[in-house]
Parts: sequence; C-alpha cells; structure tokens
Amino acid sequence: MPLLTADVVVIGAGIVGLALADAWLAAYPDTSVVVYDKEPRLAEHASGRNSGVLHAGFYYAPDSLKARLTRDGNRLLHEFCAERGVVVRETGKVVVAQNEAELPALDELYRRGQANGVTLEMIDEAQLAELEPLARTTGRALWSPTTAVANPGHVVEALAQRVRDRGGRIVLGATVTGAGPGWVMTTTEGRLSTGHVINAAGLYADKVAHWFGVGMDYRMLPFKGLYWYGDWEPGRLQRHVYPVPDPRNPFLGVHLTVTVDGKAKVGPTAIPALWREDYGGTSGMKIGESLDIARTYPRFFTSKHHDVTGLLRTELPKYSRTHLVRQAASLVPSVRPVDFTTKGRPGVRAQLFHVPSKRLEMDFVVEPGEGSTHILNAVSPAWTSSLAVARYVLEHHR
Ligand SMILES: Cc1cc2nc3c(=O)[nH]c(=O)nc-3n(C[C@H](O)[C@H](O)[C@H](O)COP(=O)(O)OP(=O)(O)OC[C@H]3O[C@@H](n4cnc5c(N)ncnc54)[C@H](O)[C@@H]3O)c2cc1C
Repeated sequence: MPLLTADVVVIGAGIVGLALADAWLAAYPDTSVVVYDKEPRLAEHASGRNSGVLHAGFYYAPDSLKARLTRDGNRLLHEFCAERGVVVRETGKVVVAQNEAELPALDELYRRGQANGVTLEMIDEAQLAELEPLARTTGRALWSPTTAVANPGHVVEALAQRVRDRGGRIVLGATVTGAGPGWVMTTTEGRLSTGHVINAAGLYADKVAHWFGVGMDYRMLPFKGLYWYGDWEPGRLQRHVYPVPDPRNPFLGVHLTVTVDGKAKVGPTAIPALWREDYGGTSGMKIGESLDIARTYPRFFTSKHHDVTGLLRTELPKYSRTHLVRQAASLVPSVRPVDFTTKGRPGVRAQLFHVPSKRLEMDFVVEPGEGSTHILNAVSPAWTSSLAVARYVLEHHR
C-alpha cells in the first residue's frame, strides 16, 4: 500500500483544530490538510460541552494572549456565524458585585476592559434593573454588550463544513496513536508522512506534545464543569449574569447564562476530575490516567500561587445541585433549586499545570516543536478565541 501523505496533519477536530485547519487552507489553498479525531462525532469534548458564551475579553491581563485573541475572536466568531447562518443570541452580560468588598475587583475588570479595547460600561443599580430586572448587585455592576451566546456544537459543525469546503479532509473515529517530526500513526489509515503536525488534542495535548519532546514540564489537570437547566419560560432571564471572579484562580465562578433558545442555565463547577474524560459515572474510566493525575494533584494542592484551599472549599460542595443552584441565587435571587433540576451535558476543562513551579497556566500556551506546533493550554475562552488563535499561530509559529 502506498504511504499516505499530507502537507499538514491536525490532531483533534475540536474548535481549535478546525480553526487551524481552516486558517491554514485559507492562507495556502493548494496544500493538503487532514484533521483526525478519535471520536466518531464532532464536538464530543470541550468544544461541544461548554456554555457557548462568546466572551468579550475584559477579564484578562492586558499583556496576555487571551486579552487580544478573545477581543478579536469575539468579532471573528460573530462574522463567521453571520456568514454561515449560525444563530447568535445577543444577550450581553452583566457582572454583579455581591458585597462592597468586591467593588475594587469590579473596577479592575473595568480598567482591564478599557486597556484591552473592549466596549464596557460601569452601571448603577437602576441601570442594572433596566437591563436585567432579575439580577442584583451592590452599588454598581459591569455591562458588556458584546458578550453573546451560540450553540457550541452548531458552531463546530459549521466550521467543519468550511474546512471541507476549502478542500480539507476530516477523518472521524481515527485515533492518532503516535507522531514525530514528519509522520503520524493513526488507527484507521496507518502511517502518514507529513510536512507539519498541529497538536490540538485538548485534554491530551500534553501527551501528544511529549511525543515530540515538547512541554515536558507540563501535565494536564482536568476540572469538571456541571450545569443545571431551569424550567423557566424561555426569555425570562435576558442577560448572562456573572459574579466578580477570584483573580488567583483561572475560573469565573458559578454564573447564570441564557442559552441560544432563551433557557436559563446555572453552572459550571470547576471540580477536580479523576481522569481526563471524567463526565460522570465510571464509563471510560482509565486507571493509569487516574494514577497519573493522583500523583500530580498533590503538587497543585500545595501550590502557593493559587487559593487552592478556597477553591476546594467552594467547589467540592457544588457536587450537590441544591448547593450549586443556591450559589447562583446570590446573583439572581429568584433562582430556586426546585426550578433547576435538569442536568446539562458536563464538560471537562483541560487546564495546563507547570509541575516545577506548581502553577496553573492562566494564558493560552503555544509551543513550537520540530516539524510541529502544539496548542497546549486552550483553556476558556478558547472556544470564543479559536479563529483569532489560529491566525496568531499561523503568523507566529509557522
Ligand atoms: C465546562 C466548560 C465551560 C466552558 N465555557 C466556555 C464558554 O462559554 N466560552 C468559551 O469561549 N469557552 C468556554 N470553555 C472553553 C472551551 O470549551 C475550550 O477552550 C475549547 O473548546 C477548547 O477546544 P479544543 O479544540 O482545544 O478542545 P476539544 O474540543 O477538547 O478538542 C480536542 C479534540 O482532540 C481529540 N483528540 C484527543 N486526542 C486525540 C488523539 N490521540 N487522536 C485523535 N484525536 C484526539 C478529542 O477527541 C477532541 O475532539 C468552556 C469549557 C468547559 C469545559
């Protein structure tokens, strides 16, 4: 059998892998690009299991990749959805303060928004009541008009179609079992020779990078996100309502979002997961992975860079639906546990951990390797930022 070849092989058909294939084909239409994903369907992992919020880009330090690529990614994703007829609901978002002690952090978010070139407004309680009558704040709140929502799976499907329209090949149900400079091995097509490998393997991006000797100090720590849907009539909640986040941890706290069809949703949690694709129950449990993670978590638990005790104290009780929903009631007092009983599809965050420094990486991490590029920390909001991340990678890491 002749050896298959492709100019570029992308490992992972999540939104980041597809965005990279799309950008590559747009820049170099005469090249051959193949995307492999181990799952038989698209959007089986984070890209299909997230809140679907198009973030605006005001949370992040002005010198970070996240700041720039989220602001630009929000615009590019809006344009993409308009081009491909994917519905976007222009909800906007409010960030509310639960007490006076949170106001300095709210002001800091506003300053970051200004520095990041994001449209933001500081509003008072009366303005909040007009924008989202159900939300409560102390003194003032932030209003982000460019935050929106879409169905994350629909966006992934549409992007996969654009990759195919540009001549790319997407092979599902194909696990990449090994790779190195110039080659990849897959379960469906055997060994391929290739000019360049792009690692966009999400929860497994560290493992794939290690095949190339890249990112050897990194391990992926998985954090599970659980959601509950409300049985409120669609449209009752009009805006996403978020708390002021703790800047020491890379998660935004329990919030209320509106889905694209107007339903209210509470979540997600950020609970340490026991294996990478730990979506609940024991199906898909991988003992080797659990042992590896069990060896890594203690280093995180003793980290001085994050408020780990606070994180565990606030996150672990959220396994209880009642507890989780009650947290959201401090943002929207009419939220009651009895109204939020339909479980959403859980997601797992692929959070990169730098073992020697015991730090969770807060920014996107992209590392070059021989004949390869590795997207190592496609954490939230990489779904929003994906099209801008792809442009950045093509400009800086080719
Ligand atoms: C609970 C939760 C809520 C979030 N909310 C938001 C939000 O509202 N807005 C936002 O912008 N972001 C959000 N995010 C973040 C966002 O979902 C991720 O940043 C983004 O989806 C990452 O995309 P990805 O393509 O890197 O990963 P994935 O979607 O995980 O894709 C990686 C793919 O690689 C494949 N793969 C892995 N190993 C192999 C292999 N060896 N061979 C072949 N294929 C392989 C997997 O099957 C998978 O399909 C959220 C994430 C979570 C978990």
